[in-house]
Amino acid sequence: MPLGWYDLKVAAARPRVGDEAVKRKTLNAVFDVFVRIPLVAKALARTPCYNARMISVEEALERILARVGTLGEEQVPLTRALGRVLAHAVSSTLDLPPWPNSSMDGYALRGADATGASTKSPARLEIAGRIAAGHVADKPLTAGQAFRIFTGGPLPDGADSVIPQEEVTTEGTTLLVARPVKAGEFVRPRGEDMRAGESVLERGRLIGPAELGLLAALGHAQVRVVRKPRVGILSTGDEIVDLGGLLGPGQIPNSNTYSLTGQVIEAGGEPVPLGVAPDRLEEIEARFRWGLGCDLLISSAGVSVGEHDFVKAALEKLGAEQHLWLVNMRPGKPIAFATIPSTGKGALPVFALPGNPVSAMVTFELFVRPALRRLGGHARLQRPVVQARALAAIPNPGRRRGFLRVALTADESGGYGARLTGDQSSGILRSMVAADGLAVIPGDSTIAAGEMVPVILLREVR
Ligand code: AMP
Ligand code: MG
Repeated sequence: MPLGWYDLKVAAARPRVGDEAVKRKTLNAVFDVFVRIPLVAKALARTPCYNARMISVEEALERILARVGTLGEEQVPLTRALGRVLAHAVSSTLDLPPWPNSSMDGYALRGADATGASTKSPARLEIAGRIAAGHVADKPLTAGQAFRIFTGGPLPDGADSVIPQEEVTTEGTTLLVARPVKAGEFVRPRGEDMRAGESVLERGRLIGPAELGLLAALGHAQVRVVRKPRVGILSTGDEIVDLGGLLGPGQIPNSNTYSLTGQVIEAGGEPVPLGVAPDRLEEIEARFRWGLGCDLLISSAGVSVGEHDFVKAALEKLGAEQHLWLVNMRPGKPIAFATIPSTGKGALPVFALPGNPVSAMVTFELFVRPALRRLGGHARLQRPVVQARALAAIPNPGRRRGFLRVALTADESGGYGARLTGDQSSGILRSMVAADGLAVIPGDSTIAAGEMVPVILLREVR
């Protein structure tokens, strides 16, 4: 056993006797906990290539987002703007609707003319005009009159309300109203939807069908949107055979390029395939160079500390600055994030993801996706998180925080039930195929059946 602080002190003072042995043991344990272990950990953390300090997912994300900005904008025709991100806030330039109008087919009138009306003693009004949608009255409505009006027709001056046609009867050109009518009934007031000068869409908003309608209503035939991030995707590994190739002994098909391509598209990026590089420093470096024109680069595999892992070395040769490596999560621990300085535009972010198909996908979800959405100008970077009830125990053995694949079902109360999709080994793509979300579980713990667990939603629950 190595010497502790107390050994040194005691040895210098006097020989050990009696219960000194117990005291020695205790004090040496204290020395270990407070001095020796922190010192060793600190020394390890400083070792550049074996940077063993595992950081939390939150800290990793913070380091990443601190180095990623939003791209510039471009103009697209309105009909091509669906799914894009609005680059500027939009204010209304008009009142919509521009004038009060009828929300029913019926008769426009003055509420005051039907005061006290009943079945026994209906108000009798003269039908003195007719207004269809798209037409305006050629004269104002005066006391004792009603105008025939149709949905969307502008209310004539002098009228303040509408009574639906189902509720009235007519006798020639006389309208019989058998109930009182309140001012404003069945009238859509001017500016009910939006008012001129009012802010209606914020920058960073994802443009959906309703936004398209609103933009069209405000006359935006062209829309300024954030440029789509171009994302270079590189797979590495001597054993990886791309689509169209024949599998030789010891080889496996390339799946990462394609799952990552899908994830990039889903996150609003434009994938740029950079092929498959063998485990050779120069080849990996050359592929990265090929992708230098992109807005973000992703590689998979070759990022551990094996003798055939050259991705980090290749990035170093490109002058990349590395910002993180080991993250406290399962699956996926080794993930490098670096930036390559470039002239003209900001530094190019690069993610070196682990090779195992599920690790690559999960690290993409947690780190690349928010960065990609930041580049693409999205106001919202994160996936939604829902609380689900564990339908069976969900164990997370091991110290690392688990992001475990779960299938979700809608339960009777409108909530979610969660169940592991099967073996959580990081190479099992089929349990990712079955996953609706990732349950987030602290290390060394089990969520018992019936307990609630937060789940990152990866897709709509089918
Ligand atoms: P590595 O990170 O290089 O140690 O790779 C980890 C595991 O992921 C190995 O079993 C690789 O064969 C596998 N792997 C690496 N790249 C791919 C890929 N593009 N498609 C499918 N599996 C891969
Ligand atoms: Mg490898």
